[in-house]
Amino acid sequence: MSQQNFRSILTGSFSTPCDDNPTVAMIEAAYRHHDIDARYINCDVKAENLKDAVAGARAMEWVGFNCSLPHKVAVIEHLDELAESARIIGAVNCVSIRDGRLIGDNTDGKGFLASLKQVADPSGKKVLLLGAGGAARAIAVELGLASAAHITVMNRDPKKAETIAALVRDNTSAKADVQAWDGEASAPEDVDILINATSIGLGDADAMPPLKVETLRKGLIVADVIPNPPRTRLLHEAEGRGCTVLDGLGMLVNQGVIGVEHWLGKTLDAGVMEQTLKDIFGAA
Ligand code: NDP
Repeated sequence: MSQQNFRSILTGSFSTPCDDNPTVAMIEAAYRHHDIDARYINCDVKAENLKDAVAGARAMEWVGFNCSLPHKVAVIEHLDELAESARIIGAVNCVSIRDGRLIGDNTDGKGFLASLKQVADPSGKKVLLLGAGGAARAIAVELGLASAAHITVMNRDPKKAETIAALVRDNTSAKADVQAWDGEASAPEDVDILINATSIGLGDADAMPPLKVETLRKGLIVADVIPNPPRTRLLHEAEGRGCTVLDGLGMLVNQGVIGVEHWLGKTLDAGVMEQTLKDIFGAA
């Protein structure tokens, strides 16, 4: 009898559209690097097929999958269990399948936090968070759970910002308030971390969130969620003023690392994943 194993471990992603999602390249590069016999399959799953896709993953004994837009909320009704932050955020982007049970987690904010922790501990810090979409919501909850002292959520539509601030206040020890974003925002002197969690800058290296750059002081941590291009104009301006900067690649890479830790119990080399994305995005 042959001792060879011709069955790969199966992981992947369900979203639509998915053609331009580079996660498959990032994760499979790391699987190859570590000589792990696993595949990450990038699947275009329309909303009406999500239930079947999830049932298929379970039936084919996938160990887990990512869910991206538009499935992050809709997938919840197909799961057996939710991790704490996924429950608070109300969205799932990473599902683990263990003994046929589906467990949903949200790694958006966790990926951001892992990236942030490379330069600072968020505990006790004051944060200005620009934007109030899905990324901002996940980041705010994780910062709150990581004992940030205070989070101000700033958004054009203050009602969306208030929803996030209320989630933080109700579920974590952090204080949270809201500012409407009209005109140019300022970074107050007592803020330690400023985060762009809007979509401004995606695919446009010249786009800049409306912000008084002269308020970006030396020592402030300025983070951007935008992965492509990684060097956004905000980060360029912030670096020129002596801020510590964090790009959106770190968030994306760390989400991959955390997801595979959930699925395989193995920690992938973040450097291999980051270089793969840089090659894809044409970044230095
Ligand atoms: P959403 O569409 O849910 O939210 C977008 C946010 O951007 C809203 O708060 C919106 O404000 C704000 N916004 C958009 N345009 C402007 C503008 N011109 N001026 C002020 N505010 C603006 O998107 P997501 O939260 O899902 O994603 C946001 C970004 O984060 C995307 O670019 C995405 O690529 C990135 N991302 C990166 C990840 C990573 O791993 N690096 C992971 C997840 C997301 P309003 O509510 O007023 O419309």
